[in-house]
Amino acid sequence: MNSSAIVVGGGLTGLAAAVAVARQGIATVHLVPKGPPDRRTSALMMPSVAFMQSAGLIGSPEALGHPLTEIRIVDATRRLIRAPETLFRSAEIGQPAFGWNFANVRLAESFDAAAAALPNLTRRAASVTDLEKTAAGIVLSLDDGTTLAAELVVGADGKKSRIRETGDFRAREHGFEQAALVCDVELARPLGGTSVEFHYENGPFTLVPAGALRANLVWIDQRPVLEAARAAGPDGLIALLAEKSQRLFGRIVPVTPAHLFLLSTLSVDRAGADGIVLVGEAAHAFPPIGAQGLNLGLRDVADLSAALASVDVTAGDWANTVSIDYARRRSNDLARTGGMVDTLFRSLLSDFLPTQTLRAGGLWAMKLLPQLRRQAFSIGMGER
Ligand SMILES: Cc1cc2nc3c(=O)[nH]c(=O)nc-3n(C[C@H](O)[C@H](O)[C@H](O)COP(=O)(O)OP(=O)(O)OC[C@H]3O[C@@H](n4cnc5c(N)ncnc54)[C@H](O)[C@@H]3O)c2cc1C
Repeated sequence: MNSSAIVVGGGLTGLAAAVAVARQGIATVHLVPKGPPDRRTSALMMPSVAFMQSAGLIGSPEALGHPLTEIRIVDATRRLIRAPETLFRSAEIGQPAFGWNFANVRLAESFDAAAAALPNLTRRAASVTDLEKTAAGIVLSLDDGTTLAAELVVGADGKKSRIRETGDFRAREHGFEQAALVCDVELARPLGGTSVEFHYENGPFTLVPAGALRANLVWIDQRPVLEAARAAGPDGLIALLAEKSQRLFGRIVPVTPAHLFLLSTLSVDRAGADGIVLVGEAAHAFPPIGAQGLNLGLRDVADLSAALASVDVTAGDWANTVSIDYARRRSNDLARTGGMVDTLFRSLLSDFLPTQTLRAGGLWAMKLLPQLRRQAFSIGMGER
């Protein structure tokens, strides 16, 4: 067996990883179980957009998404200490946009097209049920009763990763009471390129521009509140959306069904070992604030490409070397980004007055100090 890999999982990080691995000339099998389309949207920062272009995953972002030129934060809590309304402009950092907002299904189509052009990349509609490490490589058992072996296995099989579980990785997970309600909406007044976040006691209510009068809603709140909103019927939901958005954009009408996502944080002790690497939500998950999840997943794939490019894939122990090198390359970014989002989310929800004061003070400082603002942009955009 020579230079072979299996990528497990057909989400966006799995698709990107399959293309990245096959581009190194490795015979690659991509396991993509059948499932419903991913209805989410992703705000991807400029470094992620540049990576997708350089990796041949997308062409021009204009053809697929909508630019995010401003971020407006409105403290809509009734707390004693409140943050000032803050507007961040990408022009301040000399960029035409902070990033782009894409529908995940549009990105998947584009990644699929890149995959289809690679003759050494084959796809199978199967799920992994078990994993065994053997002297000859890693053997995966599949739900169709067959087995498949390779030297390198890439686990891109999401939060409940079977590869992580059976590959002996230790994970820490914490579930939140909050969930996220997601749907596309039509506004009476356009957002332009501004993403607007209303911060409430139980989480942000965010409208992300999706072209003309269209926006993507990500509403984080207690799960029963969101379930009640979904059950309120069309007029009931429209009334709730108007109230949560402080009627700044007039009547807000959902144009797709509302989906609920449960929220949790997940981290692993290491992202690779023994010829196995974990990418995307198999390695890290957190609430969708600050648009970090897929941005981090794409940085996983970028580091996997770099680790693969720096080994001789015909040498005996190459897959083990790649997994160790990958874990080393990812360690700081995973710890830093996971910690940042967790702290931000908990500070938004905190009832503790000193925490509220710190958060409000932080936003005041950012509003007043351009240098601090630029530093925050650089961290939020995942610049390295
Ligand atoms: C509401 C919401 C909004 C978000 N917004 C943003 C944003 O604006 N910007 C951003 O950067 N991130 C955002 N994220 C995060 C982002 O969506 C995720 O980080 C990203 O989509 C995860 O992709 P993935 O491929 O790792 O996992 P998934 O999309 O979960 O894919 C996992 C895949 O693995 C497959 N699978 C599972 N088990 C097996 C098995 N045993 N065998 C084989 N295959 C298996 C599944 O079928 C699926 O195809 C958001 C998340 C949510 C919930």
